Amino acid sequence: MSSLPSVAPHPLARYGWDDGWAERFAPYAAQGLLPGRVVRVDRGRCDLVTATGTVHADTEFVVPRDPMQVVCTGDWAGVDPHGDPRYVRTLLPRRTAFVRSTSSKRSEGQILAANVDHAIVAVSLAVELDLGRIERFLALAWESGAQPLVVLTKADLVADAAGLSYLVRDVETAAPGVPVVPVSAVTGDGLDVLAAVVSGGTSVLLGQSGAGKSTLANALLGEDVMEVQAARDVDGKGRHTTTTRNLLVLPGGGVLIDTPGLRGVGLFDAESGVEQVFSEIADLAGECRFHDCAHEREPGCAVLAAVDSGELPERRLESYRKLMRENQWIVAKTDARLRAEIRRDWKRKGAEGRAAMEAKRGRWA
Ligand code: GDP
Ligand code: ZN
Repeated sequence: MSSLPSVAPHPLARYGWDDGWAERFAPYAAQGLLPGRVVRVDRGRCDLVTATGTVHADTEFVVPRDPMQVVCTGDWAGVDPHGDPRYVRTLLPRRTAFVRSTSSKRSEGQILAANVDHAIVAVSLAVELDLGRIERFLALAWESGAQPLVVLTKADLVADAAGLSYLVRDVETAAPGVPVVPVSAVTGDGLDVLAAVVSGGTSVLLGQSGAGKSTLANALLGEDVMEVQAARDVDGKGRHTTTTRNLLVLPGGGVLIDTPGLRGVGLFDAESGVEQVFSEIADLAGECRFHDCAHEREPGCAVLAAVDSGELPERRLESYRKLMRENQWIVAKTDARLRAEIRRDWKRKGAEGRAAMEAKRGRWA
């Protein structure tokens, strides 16, 4: 028997609060701010769970021009407990973040979820495997900073065990360093493995529509959890609310974030994520004769040699090139925006500088 005094867990511990967050938050706690985790964001307002219940707060604050400083689900934030209007006063630096490349005109990123530990990529075994698509999701997952896990769903639809292990191995070749787990919501197979992974930290479910994400979420959540949680929510004024949350505590431990935006995410500046998905290509590239080898037709290219010898499937190299090209295009778009901003800044500074100089020389008017 332990003789250690028992310490009641922090009320936010089940939402992921730990010593690291407490340390980061200490200066704000000293200012009288209350820590909370953002469970929902909607048009300039957000819901946070705090030690004393759910509070609603305005999200307008800090650096409004920086899209990365926009409050998002999963953030740890500080609110003024007595403020009226109450608003988010600070965001703790994110450990990880999912960023999407916004469509067409605006190339800056949009934060989809923050402080995610596990990115669960759901892949249906009911349709033919698309390894390229899996690689795309994995690049995004690695780029966020979260640890990916591939879940092969609907395993009950694969007739024999040998066939299933063949499919698992196939996916493993496209996912170095990533566990691949077959599951079935029908038989329950593999769900315990998934539950064990997600019990430690915050998870998101990624994957194509129809991959089985909602089914997995329901299996993890148990059926009536959503309603129970909604009924328990109390806003700052003591009213019960029934708003839906995008961040839920799992009965077996851990937190699940499910936002509409996470469905069908694209790549954003995911170069290091792409490198990680194709780590065996990066390893081979280290042996190319030229350190800036593009693996196109350079002499002494270890990557092309590996394709020739059959060690590296050509499909992998093509998928790598495709993701790198797409990624570079997105980066170039972002850079164009940055360049325009820098140019504006210079023009403004230049005008101020000229005005100051002319004032000095007394050449006004
Ligand atoms: P989502 O779009 O990714 O959220 O996918 P859903 O969870 O809605 O699932 C899509 C379809 O696959 C639904 O018809 C589910 O009933 C079915 N499905 C999900 N999981 C399983 C499974 O383990 N086995 C089988 N046979 N069907 C499943
Ligand atoms: Zn090369």
